[in-house]
Amino acid sequence: MKKFINATIYRNDEATEILVEDGVIRAIGRNLPSAPEEIDLKGRLVVPPYVDAHLHLDYVYTGGNPGAKNDSGTLFEGIARWHEVKKHQTFEDAKARALKGIQEEVSKGVQFIRTHIDVDDPKLTGLKAMLELREELKDNVTIQIVAFPQEGMYAYKGGAEMVEEALKMGADCVGGIPHFEWAREIGERSIHTTVELATKYDKLIDVHCDETDDVMSRFVELLNALVMSEGIGSRTAASHTCSFGSADNAYAFRMMGLFQKSGLNFIALPTENAYLQGRQDTYPKRRGLTRVKEFWESGINVCFGQDSINDPWYPAGNGNLMNILDNGIHLAQTMSFEQLDTCLDLITFNGAKTLNIEEQYGLDVGKPANFLVLDALTPFEAVRQRADVLSSIRHGEYLFKKPEPSYEIELDLHRKTK
Ligand SMILES: [Zn+2]
Repeated sequence: MKKFINATIYRNDEATEILVEDGVIRAIGRNLPSAPEEIDLKGRLVVPPYVDAHLHLDYVYTGGNPGAKNDSGTLFEGIARWHEVKKHQTFEDAKARALKGIQEEVSKGVQFIRTHIDVDDPKLTGLKAMLELREELKDNVTIQIVAFPQEGMYAYKGGAEMVEEALKMGADCVGGIPHFEWAREIGERSIHTTVELATKYDKLIDVHCDETDDVMSRFVELLNALVMSEGIGSRTAASHTCSFGSADNAYAFRMMGLFQKSGLNFIALPTENAYLQGRQDTYPKRRGLTRVKEFWESGINVCFGQDSINDPWYPAGNGNLMNILDNGIHLAQTMSFEQLDTCLDLITFNGAKTLNIEEQYGLDVGKPANFLVLDALTPFEAVRQRADVLSSIRHGEYLFKKPEPSYEIELDLHRKTK
């Protein structure tokens, strides 16, 4: 048994102590019974682990590969480049790169990852590697796999069948990319197939949806309608929805009412889409972001993800969710003092809700003792300072613990140069 004391606990003003036994939170509050091991957090902020709701672990670190160079910086050239890169992917290479990507994320406080894996591959190389890693690493990180047809369910011959095969092999979610199919009707067909497969195999849904500035791309409308009819809106996520950021206000207003009804989840990818979108714009130039502010303020669940770590779509990315949050709240203009106090939700609780893992997530009695200690005393300061993650605790044990920051920079700005 161990007790964490002198904690500032995110979204819990009453408690300052967490009692952990056998990997589970036994009590949370003040003046809890003593424990053989007591860890003084010195007032620092404790938050649930970061959730990366959208990542491509089969693509990580391929950005520098021969043939991966994306001259236009667009989504569509990225897909064409990946088509070449994946021809040379081996199981060993895919597994080694994904492991490195996971290590990079976990070392920055992520404990839950939803990864899309390209299944437009007759050998399903990336999927096989990821299924092994999901199992091998499960004590340290929870991974959800999306069966994702990167080159289409129909634009890629046999894509829909490969998605189904991946679900049978153990993928957790059905993916799709309707805006990449060759005609609107075919994109719509892919949405129907996505929902049919999800109900047939009892899986979650996460669609790359309307990742374009084209205001005519409105696949989210059909996705929302179908999952609402099936009563599985809360089990569904629409990733990107960039075009919704350009949509007519009257249309957007009506759709947001329907999103509220369905419980559909939204995942925005701020750094990646700021980089990829608006490429055909001169000026003014769009930001590539969906209506994060309006979703958040009207109670529609929205969260952020990293998306890419050095791949044909985006050269940067390092799994630092605080950086993603920082970029996201700027682009979305969600920085009122109240929002700064609660925006950590966008990389924690809201991500957990999107992943449908709320039963095992959060700082509550009876749940797994999974949490982070940030180098800040309040949520506001954590965001303002882009606070570092000092330690990550999983099932009551340290995944990592950094040395206590031991120095304060001493500045004398009144000094006179000699
Ligand atoms: Zn993606």
